[in-house]
Amino acid sequence: MPYLKNPRLEIDLGKITFNAEKVVKLCDNVGIEVIGVTKGFAAIPAIVKAMMAGGIKKLADARLYNIMNLRKFGFTNEILLLRLPRLSTVKQTVLYADYSLNSEKTVIKALSSVARKFNKTHGIIIMVDVGDLREGIMPEYVVRTIKDIVNLKGIKLLGLGTNVGCYGGILPSSKNFNILVELKKDLYKEGIDIPVLSGGGTSSLQLIKDKTMPDNINQLRIGEGILLGRDSTRNKTIEGLYQDTFVLKAEVIEIKEKPSVPIGKIGRDAFGHIPKFKDRGIHKRAIAAIGKQDIRVSSILPMNKDVKILGASSDHLILDVDDVSTDIKIGDEMSFSILYPALLSAVTSQFVYKHYI
Ligand SMILES: *Cc1c(COP(=O)(O)O)cnc(C)c1O
Repeated sequence: MPYLKNPRLEIDLGKITFNAEKVVKLCDNVGIEVIGVTKGFAAIPAIVKAMMAGGIKKLADARLYNIMNLRKFGFTNEILLLRLPRLSTVKQTVLYADYSLNSEKTVIKALSSVARKFNKTHGIIIMVDVGDLREGIMPEYVVRTIKDIVNLKGIKLLGLGTNVGCYGGILPSSKNFNILVELKKDLYKEGIDIPVLSGGGTSSLQLIKDKTMPDNINQLRIGEGILLGRDSTRNKTIEGLYQDTFVLKAEVIEIKEKPSVPIGKIGRDAFGHIPKFKDRGIHKRAIAAIGKQDIRVSSILPMNKDVKILGASSDHLILDVDDVSTDIKIGDEMSFSILYPALLSAVTSQFVYKHYI
């Protein structure tokens, strides 16, 4: 935790609890269990507790470091490793996570032998690729793969899962989720009963609202919806949830009237790009003390709609404040709402102070 309180991320734990409660209730009404995804905020314990206060019982994170930290802080919840385990970390996966997502027989066999060695049972969710083309077995190979691993000792096949809206930007639909439902039936015919069908993340909530979620989907893994009240795959906010859960504050260090086009021959900026400028004459600008080393600047939005972000270098955020009617002074703090990519960078930045409300 940095000592200087600016730039600062203000985290409203009450609003996160509220969002979690709403999401849990929405899913509970249709028999879906919510796993609280903690990777978006590096599993910071105070935020995990806020999620749990809203009814979240099971947790999921893509990073073993985050999961190990949760254990260190005393969290005894069931935790899902939300990524395919690395072959080199099967031991830590078995020791720290209760279950993991899997698509490779080699890794599942390694998990099995470590679990046996430590006298543990590790749960497996087999990922099925329904079209997003990130992780997962193509549907036609699922039954075959499962028959090969289902009897391995030390592992327990919990179910099938899928991921959408991440790499390929594919939207979840009853059609792609029905692939899981059909595979469950196929497996049943082979004498294999799987309790869990795990749908996608936040973008899947829309199917519940539209009443198009197939009956047999009984688990969703939700991060963004609870944290930011947004569904970025659909580029929209989620009705009834708070979006101002995280607010970024940065201090104004310069206010001047300047030309809108730099003076002199243009080379490359600090990040290798050749910048382009439109001449809008002299205008009033402010510089806030935050930059690309602190946060993903392209994913923050000034809360005052009259402020425009012109650009940033590693430590300076250049703002157009020409249209701002109030008087901005040196030392004032500007407020920004943040989107998921900015959240990822802000929570892992040692330069951004975290303040909990
Ligand atoms: C990140 C992730 C989620 C959660 O996604 P959100 O959009 O933040 O709800 C769910 N499942 C997997 C596999 C993920 O990697």
